Amino acid sequence: MSTTPSPTQSRSIDPLGVEVPSLVPTHWYNLAADLPEPTPPHLHPGTKEPLTPDDLAPLFPMALIAQEVSTERYIEIPQTIRELYALWRPAPLVRALRLERALGTGARIYYKYEGGSPAGSHKPNTAVAQAYYNKLEGTTKLTTETGAGQWGASLSFAGALLGLEVEVWQVRASYDSKPYRKAQMEVYGGVCHPSPSDLTEAGRAMLAKDPNTTGSLGMAISEAVEVAAQDPNAHYALGSVLNHVMLHQSVIGQEAMQQLAEAGDAVPDIIFGCAGGGSNLAGLTFPFLGRNLREGTKTRLVACEPAACPSLTQGEYRYDFGDVAGLTPLLKMHTLGKDFVPPSIHAGGLRYHGMSPMVSHAVNLGLMDAIAIEQDAAFEAGLLFARSEGIIPAPESTHAVAGAIAHARQAADGEVIVLGLSGNGVLDLPAYAQYV
Ligand SMILES: *Cc1c(COP(=O)(O)O)cnc(C)c1O
Repeated sequence: MSTTPSPTQSRSIDPLGVEVPSLVPTHWYNLAADLPEPTPPHLHPGTKEPLTPDDLAPLFPMALIAQEVSTERYIEIPQTIRELYALWRPAPLVRALRLERALGTGARIYYKYEGGSPAGSHKPNTAVAQAYYNKLEGTTKLTTETGAGQWGASLSFAGALLGLEVEVWQVRASYDSKPYRKAQMEVYGGVCHPSPSDLTEAGRAMLAKDPNTTGSLGMAISEAVEVAAQDPNAHYALGSVLNHVMLHQSVIGQEAMQQLAEAGDAVPDIIFGCAGGGSNLAGLTFPFLGRNLREGTKTRLVACEPAACPSLTQGEYRYDFGDVAGLTPLLKMHTLGKDFVPPSIHAGGLRYHGMSPMVSHAVNLGLMDAIAIEQDAAFEAGLLFARSEGIIPAPESTHAVAGAIAHARQAADGEVIVLGLSGNGVLDLPAYAQYV
């Protein structure tokens, strides 16, 4: 261990006076205000009644609990968070002219690139918000799970800048195969354990059942929730799935909407996003979906999930737990079942048995489509993208790239396609090495 001091817990969270570019949104957009029917509420696992704020208080700060159930269309972004966003926002929206030429398509393809954030993905958009509200309410430590490690790294980054300890349980398969992510967390002062671990009751039970398990996000969530629930100074943070995470990610789509308007393509025909828990997809598409619902525009929205973990295209739409031990609330979502252990695909961030209740609801209402993409097709698209546009997409993001490319190959001239490039793949090169 190094002797570098960890972030002081008295670190102020007042704004510093940073000049924030005007394209960085001042408010988060909440799709709940525009949905034709409300998203089914989360239920208490014991009583099966809708959750009350008190049920969630051991895990989350009140501000986030309020956002979880809010139906306000716009929620103001605190200036301290906008200043943090200004480190990497506005995120670029780029016309993929070289990809268009490589495909020989007459369609106009844009990508919204979230890989320029300090952690390399869209996840810091919610990490800094969650750390901020926790800090504001006196939490000193956050626990969380991580799959491939992007969320653990993002929360560790946010914890460092806002002065919170961060303890992470990482799915064993990724902990072993992606050691750089753990190092990234540690650089930011975070602590990372493989999951299941012998540090928690839930982890010990899972190890007793199968000592060689590769782990799953559902198992890691159980461990992180258990630790937070037992420590009065600690809270839990979730990187996707929950409504408040979809809310924070809305900065992506709001910016994209303005950038497209400036480019002369205000109403795209179709948008592709990859979907693990649903947050980058929701962040990019919900502002457009809200506009479809309010103004009758007809932008089509497509979730791209891995064929190996197909919750939207193969799962059931029902109440299920977010974790294996059954410690979380019951969420109405497309699910493969909480005990589903997905194959160890490279896109670790898409290995989750469930799906955001808001995304599930939108798909169920027919407001959004879903397709499943095979891993080989995803990497082939990732290589083509890297070789034409220069950016190596995260393995997760290649699913959106593959969806968009397949569509572009048969699109009409002038059709406007947007794809969400949720992260870069520079820490995932061993996965690419198998495809070059
Ligand atoms: C975590 C992650 C995902 C999957 O999470 P969502 O909540 O579905 O967005 C996708 N892309 C990248 C780069 C990720 O890190």
